[in-house]
Amino acid sequence: MTERRKNFEDLGLSPKLLKAVNGAGYKFPTPIQEKSIPLVLMGRDLMGCAQTGTGKTASFSLPVIDILSEGRARARMPRALILSPTRELAQQISDNFTSYSKFNDLGHAVLIGGESMPDQERSLLKNPDVVIATPGRLLDMFERGKLMLGGIKILVIDEADRMLDMGFIPDVQRIVASLPRIRQTLLFSATMGAEIRELANAFLINPKEVSVAPPASIAQTVKHMMVSAPKSPKEKRAVLRRLIGNEDVKSALVFCNRKKDISILCDSLRRHGFDSDELHGNMSQHKRTETLSLYKTGKIKFLVCSDVAGRGLDIEGVSHVFNFDIPNNAESYVHRI
Ligand code: AMP
Repeated sequence: MTERRKNFEDLGLSPKLLKAVNGAGYKFPTPIQEKSIPLVLMGRDLMGCAQTGTGKTASFSLPVIDILSEGRARARMPRALILSPTRELAQQISDNFTSYSKFNDLGHAVLIGGESMPDQERSLLKNPDVVIATPGRLLDMFERGKLMLGGIKILVIDEADRMLDMGFIPDVQRIVASLPRIRQTLLFSATMGAEIRELANAFLINPKEVSVAPPASIAQTVKHMMVSAPKSPKEKRAVLRRLIGNEDVKSALVFCNRKKDISILCDSLRRHGFDSDELHGNMSQHKRTETLSLYKTGKIKFLVCSDVAGRGLDIEGVSHVFNFDIPNNAESYVHRI
């Protein structure tokens, strides 16, 4: 059984950011967010090994917004610089930034190749706190004197391995050479090969390393089946019983989305002679451990549970997983099965 899952309040973010995160519909931090946000808020340099899809953008954007909310940018002197290998990623980071900084009075500018220079120059006249840029365009602007880099307190290098593949590292090196030496640097990369480590040694000071697994994927050995069922809970339960009858079930997890449905389903299965018990977040730790142990040792055949209970379980011999309710997102489906 895993420990209680951390929520955003536990990570030390300000109320304004918690409101923005809530507005974005995020319920829990992803693993990279849980690990990175407290370290970034502490002012540490960070080396994050994470892929797109893990929530890494918020893992640096949220604490950066909190750190910057203390002060103000001076004329054409942004305080944070986020380097991205591609225009698309820069745009995506910008979109996220807009949504996360909704309740903070922070401005940002996007400097990317292939788009109008005059428009971007105008955006710099608004004295953005944050600049999100691809390396080539940023250097171009800097060398034309359109922005100054002497006020940068935080540098983020996103997708460092792609920067390397695309041949941007010399540009990045020139940019870093123009930044204040005393700053906080965060470097993210999907891989941590020797070349990336060399870069990290050159750019970061005593960094903390955090790493998360790639976005969950489904084991090839699992067979999937979809069964359509009537909306009525009673009829849906009958479909489940028929299904169980048709399958050679040795040990099964049955997932529901809501706690109250877990008890209803569990009672109903028992009434129909199925050996079942329930597992969800409202139970005491002691009861959860006890139930899980009964299930693991084969004394209970059907465990009706919630996603929270289902996370991080490692159980041998599960023959079937029934998604009585369709999970709310793809990640939950992967965890369940
Ligand atoms: P990223 O890896 O930063 O590209 O994020 C991948 C997707 O996950 C984006 O669509 C984000 O909006 C979303 N996301 C980031 N953090 C969370 C979270 N804590 N809960 C749910 N979705 C999230």
